Amino acid sequence: MLTRKQFLRLSGTSILGFSLFSSASASTGSKSKPKISGTGPMKIDIKTKKLILKHTWTISRNSSNFKNNVFVRIERDGIVGYGEAAPNVRYGEDYKKTTDRIKGAENILKKTDLFHYVDIKEAIDKHITDQSCAKAAIDIALMDWIGKAFNQPLYKLWGLNTAEAPLTSYSIGIDTVEMIKKKTREAEPYPILKVKVGTKRDKEIINAVRSVTKDKPIRVDANEGWKTKEVALENIKWLMDQGVEFIEQPMPASMIEETAWLRDHVDIPIIADEAVKTAHDIPKLVGAYDGINIKLMKSGGLQEALRMIYMAKAYGMKIMLGCMIESSVGISAAAQLTPFVDYADLDGNLLIANDPFSGVKVDHGKFIFNDKPGIGVEGTF
Ligand SMILES: [Mg+2]
Repeated sequence: MLTRKQFLRLSGTSILGFSLFSSASASTGSKSKPKISGTGPMKIDIKTKKLILKHTWTISRNSSNFKNNVFVRIERDGIVGYGEAAPNVRYGEDYKKTTDRIKGAENILKKTDLFHYVDIKEAIDKHITDQSCAKAAIDIALMDWIGKAFNQPLYKLWGLNTAEAPLTSYSIGIDTVEMIKKKTREAEPYPILKVKVGTKRDKEIINAVRSVTKDKPIRVDANEGWKTKEVALENIKWLMDQGVEFIEQPMPASMIEETAWLRDHVDIPIIADEAVKTAHDIPKLVGAYDGINIKLMKSGGLQEALRMIYMAKAYGMKIMLGCMIESSVGISAAAQLTPFVDYADLDGNLLIANDPFSGVKVDHGKFIFNDKPGIGVEGTF
């Protein structure tokens, strides 16, 4: 027990300690404190750019040679933030609607202090109820601006250690046996592969990969392609003998009960992708999935992705950070969060031939972060 005198002495010390600290930071703070109001006149540019794929990209649902992504540039107080939307047909998105939604939300940004980015997210969530990729473009640009206003990379602002980031996998899309072999050979520098399945030729696809690499870890993504739990079980049992690390979205997103049954019958992690967009979706997946694949385009940006990470951790679920076909804007933004997750699948920019930006790089699966502020990208559109 402290006497009253001891208590006063101790609290005096801490008050003094605090005031010393405060004055120390005040004396140096004038230099580091951003002289940025967050409320100056604002300029917003929006533009669609055609991103050309190096190879035709095929998954169980569809096939494409290019993607029309929508880029956003915001400028206020001399600071520029970049964002990107990768519209995905699975979620009813296209670049025209996405552009329309971003334009419709311009006033929220223009009338709000950008340092109140939490308020902006709430307002945008109410204003844009479809086209989550449009929300992502705004939120990425906003958080890029915030990082630059504080002159720090976002990973630093969030207290994350880049040395903790997992390696990224490299994706092999559905193709002919010859092309899958060729792509697997091209993927030689990448230590982990993510192979797209969910077809009637799954064994042929995996055998083609395994004919090139005997023991590289493989992750498998069925993209909802197996339509019954019996088919999924049979496929997974075979895949477990092929050195597969986990199975992503084996059945349609709506089949949560069937996925829970499947999980009880196999001893390999099952990760949700199409079944989870935002934090709101996580509680109902507990028990059916071992983990979730977070993508900025589904979550609607970095702020929601961070909330999903905290929520998934609270439920003891594994976390993967994935992507759509995106330029270095979307990929570098997502990479800022990788030190906080178990698996990374951020290769969208590696699959395109005309990336207008450069940012976080990948060397043999390892992210090479830079110390540029915000999302750490250079380039323009
Ligand atoms: Mg997936």
